[in-house]
Amino acid sequence: MKCGIVGLPNVGKSTLFNAITRAGIAAENYPFCTIEPNVGIVEVPDPRLKPLIDIVNPQKVQPAIVEFVDIAGLVAGASKGEGLGNKFLANIRETDAIAHVVRCFDDGNVVHVAGKVDPLDDIETINTELALSDMETVEKTLQREGKKAKSGDKEAIALCAVLEKIQKWLDESKPVRTLGLDADQLQLIKPLCLITVKPVMYLANVDESGFENNPLLDKVVNLGKAENAPVVAICAKIESEIADLEDEDKAMFLTELGLEEPGLDRVIRAAYSLLGLQTYFTAGVKEVRAWTVKRGSTAPQAAGVIHTDFERGFIRAEVIAYEEFVKNKGEQGAKEAGKMRLEGKEYIMQDGDVVHFRFNV
Ligand code: GDP
Repeated sequence: MKCGIVGLPNVGKSTLFNAITRAGIAAENYPFCTIEPNVGIVEVPDPRLKPLIDIVNPQKVQPAIVEFVDIAGLVAGASKGEGLGNKFLANIRETDAIAHVVRCFDDGNVVHVAGKVDPLDDIETINTELALSDMETVEKTLQREGKKAKSGDKEAIALCAVLEKIQKWLDESKPVRTLGLDADQLQLIKPLCLITVKPVMYLANVDESGFENNPLLDKVVNLGKAENAPVVAICAKIESEIADLEDEDKAMFLTELGLEEPGLDRVIRAAYSLLGLQTYFTAGVKEVRAWTVKRGSTAPQAAGVIHTDFERGFIRAEVIAYEEFVKNKGEQGAKEAGKMRLEGKEYIMQDGDVVHFRFNV
């Protein structure tokens, strides 16, 4: 699951992305996959890990991770192939959610592509390009599938009906994510990889002093409320400075700034949630580990994240809610307190579940 970072040039995307890669997991720790230069993999900060570690005292700890993709160079006209438009749009299609970086800082030394700093204009420019790109995809598919529909192909008829709805919506400059399509309709259009169906959050890039009394930020926050999209304010410049520090200096620097955690942590958690992800834990003496599943996953699906054999041979899951695990000081205590549940194939995983899977090989 990947979160793409988009935004106009000169809004601070590279600065933020550099902070992500430097705070992130080094490519040498992933010898089995090539990490492209535009991909940053970061651990998801999770305050629940520490208590688990204190109880279990494991040899190893593995937090959940999330992947960011830097999609630089989106400009007005991208959907018509301006700049490196087509390539960038293709990169966005492959992501699962979008973090839209918006400039909310005034700095005469940093040129703004449109000549003035107006976050709402900027957002509209990008959104227009994304919508135009979707429109093109929809038109092409309608032409192709329309022929099949005429000859009575049931699937094509259903698809065309959804696409016509989408076309109207996009014509009104609205993103597909707000159309309220149901699960079946979403499944039908999945192969199209539409961009505006993906969930979006706005990252308002502010100056050091711009977290409060910042009318530019207020504009983005209000837009986020109207669109039901999360807004995270960060100062990319500070984040890139923090990312370079050793842990001890980092803590000192944050205290000086009056911050509890790097803004990056908020960005990472927001991305994780935007991607529709949640965590369950395995807590053994060898390893305490946070695993990632889509919200709404069943127990066998969650087991499949560890190993496909676990899903195939799933028998049941021994589940302890996180709070009970901590309150009862571990598995043994939770069992004695009657807080361990045996769950079957239909069980929907809850965020924070501490789990032991039983399976046949
Ligand atoms: P990109 O084109 O969106 O990738 O933007 P960059 O990350 O390259 O940033 C463009 C310029 O804005 C660089 O000179 C950055 O140093 C500067 N910049 C980025 N974030 C901030 C910020 O929070 N405040 C100020 N004043 N400048 C910033």
